[in-house]
Amino acid sequence: MQDTTIPHWLSKQADISPHCSAIELVNGQRLTFEELKNQSQTYAKKLADWGVKEGFHVAILSTNKQEMIVAIHALSYLKAIAVLLNIRLTKDELMYQLNDADVCFLIYPEELKDKASSLSIKHQASYTEIHQRHPKKIALAKEIRLNDPFTIMYTSGTTGFPKGVIHTYGNHWWSAIGSALNLGIHDQDKWLAALPLFHVSGLSILIRSVIYGMPVYLLEKFNKKAVHQAIINDGVTIVSVVTVMLQQLVEELGTNQYPTTLRCFLLGGGPAPLPLLKQAKKLNVPVFQSFGMTETASQIVTLNANDALKKVGSAGKALFPAQVKVESSDQTIGEIYVKGPMVTSGYYKKPEATNKILKDGWLATGDLGYLDDEGFLYVVDRRNDLIISGGENIYPSEIESVLSGHPAIKEAGVTGISDDKWGEVPIAFVVTNTQIAFDEVMNYLREHIANYKLPKEIHEVAALPRNASNKLVRSQLRHIRKE
Ligand code: ATP
Ligand code: MG
Repeated sequence: MQDTTIPHWLSKQADISPHCSAIELVNGQRLTFEELKNQSQTYAKKLADWGVKEGFHVAILSTNKQEMIVAIHALSYLKAIAVLLNIRLTKDELMYQLNDADVCFLIYPEELKDKASSLSIKHQASYTEIHQRHPKKIALAKEIRLNDPFTIMYTSGTTGFPKGVIHTYGNHWWSAIGSALNLGIHDQDKWLAALPLFHVSGLSILIRSVIYGMPVYLLEKFNKKAVHQAIINDGVTIVSVVTVMLQQLVEELGTNQYPTTLRCFLLGGGPAPLPLLKQAKKLNVPVFQSFGMTETASQIVTLNANDALKKVGSAGKALFPAQVKVESSDQTIGEIYVKGPMVTSGYYKKPEATNKILKDGWLATGDLGYLDDEGFLYVVDRRNDLIISGGENIYPSEIESVLSGHPAIKEAGVTGISDDKWGEVPIAFVVTNTQIAFDEVMNYLREHIANYKLPKEIHEVAALPRNASNKLVRSQLRHIRKE
């Protein structure tokens, strides 16, 4: 792709709208774009004093804090690369990512000092320790080259080992533009970030903020009461959510209504059970489902406002700069491929893994889905999780979705086990709200799904196996099976 250069996005926004809010916190504190620029530039000079240089890989291990936003922008002023780490990972998992990404410096908030010092990275400092340094007199980046790498983020590790995805400035730029061309940019927009900034779904909110000149309402972590408060009293207009968050928010809402200022819950990250989407629709909650992955720098296919109500369950159409196609032998369900300038050019130091997923500019997502006759995408499941039983395809997420629609079932996980007669059969694991008999669950399932899809076993468990991104790891389900 041609190498395009643009002015540094934060400097530009500070120039255009210096006094507009860039960050708002729950306690009412706010930071303008000018203040954010000044703080980030000073921070960059302090990082330089510590030894950070252009091209260095600097890891950040942090919850959603204002300092984290400042540190991320500071690294861009130094043309250093931010490696964003999931704080829920174990020491070994973190060390794997730190080594794999060739990290030489590590930044963290004071309260994560113990976790950070257990990691063998020579140069590490807390936000406060960096603040105490003297700014070095150096020239900072005035421009951004869209082809330059900006961040490395690891995939969630749901299907195997996490892979380090390189995002260029251009990937983030086009992701923000694609979203704006779908959702529009409204004058009063304020986007709530409760998703971790170390995931691309969270980070992408920061990038949109500087490009649109829009405040980010930052929550250190998700809390349904704080989100409600922000929507009802603080004028939040858009909230990025994953399914569990939406579930809790809808529950909290009860029979009330959100104010009309709330215009979008951008839902992504994983499958959403249909009963939940229908319930949200009934309550007039504006849910826009989306499909994306770390490799696509957040959403790449999203439902828009006009279609949100009539296409419940669909992830929508590819964003304006992007394309989606489904490859299948029989014109039905097949692997989803996406293409667009927000798609990564590859995994860090993993040419083989990169070549496996990228062909002629198209990214093989590893997910299965179909396009309806109007071109709307429906994501069905991960290709690896498909269960083939007596020659029929069974998608675990369909069974999970139906199970979670039962009032006594809080969440469900389904996987396949080998079977002498059928090859494979589905088995289910449920976390319940109240006691429920096996027969009752089976009768309920029989009303909703075909016989060949009925799970051969249903296990009641205290919790489902989830990874550090809180995603269901189906491959671990069979290990918790009670014999
Ligand atoms: P790994 O690649 O390491 O196994 P991961 O795929 O879970 O982990 P992410 O990049 O965080 O890592 O997640 C992207 C995946 O999330 C997609 O490939 C898809 O399986 C799932 N996903 C995203 N959006 C949707 C959606 N709307 N419906 C169903 N699944 C979705
Ligand atoms: Mg993946």
